[in-house]
Amino acid sequence: MINLDNASTTKPYAEVVNSIALSLEEDYLNISAKYSQAKQIEKKVELIRAGFLKEINAKDGVIIFCPSATAANNLVLRSLNLKEAGKILIADGEHSSVYETAKELKNNGADIDFVPLDKTGHLDLEKFKRSLTPSVRFVSCMLVSNETGAINNIKEITRLAKQANKNCLVHTDCVQALGKIDLSVSDLGVDYATFSAHKIYGPKGIGALYAKNINTLRPLIFGGGQEYNLISGTENFAYIAGFYTALKLTIHKIKENYNIVSNYRQEFLSALESEKIDFILNSPKENFSPYILNLSFKNVRGEVLLHALSQKGILVANGSACSSKKRGNRVLEAMGKNKNEVDWAVRISFSPYEKYDFKTIAKEFKNVIEEIKY
Ligand code: PLP
Repeated sequence: MINLDNASTTKPYAEVVNSIALSLEEDYLNISAKYSQAKQIEKKVELIRAGFLKEINAKDGVIIFCPSATAANNLVLRSLNLKEAGKILIADGEHSSVYETAKELKNNGADIDFVPLDKTGHLDLEKFKRSLTPSVRFVSCMLVSNETGAINNIKEITRLAKQANKNCLVHTDCVQALGKIDLSVSDLGVDYATFSAHKIYGPKGIGALYAKNINTLRPLIFGGGQEYNLISGTENFAYIAGFYTALKLTIHKIKENYNIVSNYRQEFLSALESEKIDFILNSPKENFSPYILNLSFKNVRGEVLLHALSQKGILVANGSACSSKKRGNRVLEAMGKNKNEVDWAVRISFSPYEKYDFKTIAKEFKNVIEEIKY
């Protein structure tokens, strides 16, 4: 199997699997229990929270573990008080866990505007500036697009939002950025940042939210009061430990992996060109993460290509796996891509831990494309 779909999930590190197994064996007690044996596990969680904050360079604030990044994004958006006056701005290219939640809030009366992307897939900064008024109270824009790899200038977006209203809260979804590009929440200046373990070689089913001021949040799941009374439910210590193991390993290798993947991206594009395959680059040429590449192969339906390649053992995506049940591609459409370009699009995403023979892969692409193109 040749995995070119590592933006949808990643293979856990062996160290992660071991740390989960060890935690399940040795630290299985309920953290909320009152005896000292449970308190010792609680102490480990507190150390992990502090270590996590350090890894993302947060000078203050807290880490809240959530059942997924989807839950973390819901926690932020659902904490917004709908009765409070003021504008909420959401970037058009957000992951469905932000976008669909925002749509739901808007249906319930929230004053929400969606801010367009430019042709390169970045938030359109000029249009964003024009949407900013002193009444803006919340902004959400992702750091790295899961569809195109576009890197948004979150530092500038935060500066502009806070210049319009110093009390405006800013959220950034960092799921495709963590462990892949340098990330410092204090440098970005944001109030909230979202992370997911399974995109950085950790377990599925656990995410984290960084919040500068926890008092701005309201409970998402009610019950026993775990996770600062925001996400009730018995803590999953094994996955918290697995997430932290993955975080440390991936951040340690960030530069090395970035260089490997940058070369992969270049080699892949060159191999496609050598095979004279006709494609359109949907990812930006500047300010992009090399991990994600979005291409449209002319006269080849992305979904048909995906299935034909998978029969040859090559995995790619068309659109993110999280919204695969929906037709079209909201993000590419928001960039102004025409119907054909959207229809022909596939997402290629690399892992630094895979060895790829791009010449052979490009030949397979060529053969498959010749068979299925219309
Ligand atoms: N945000 C982004 C940018 C993503 O790419 C994803 C997953 O595809 C998520 C959020 C959701 O992550 P999780 O699977 O942990 O809910």
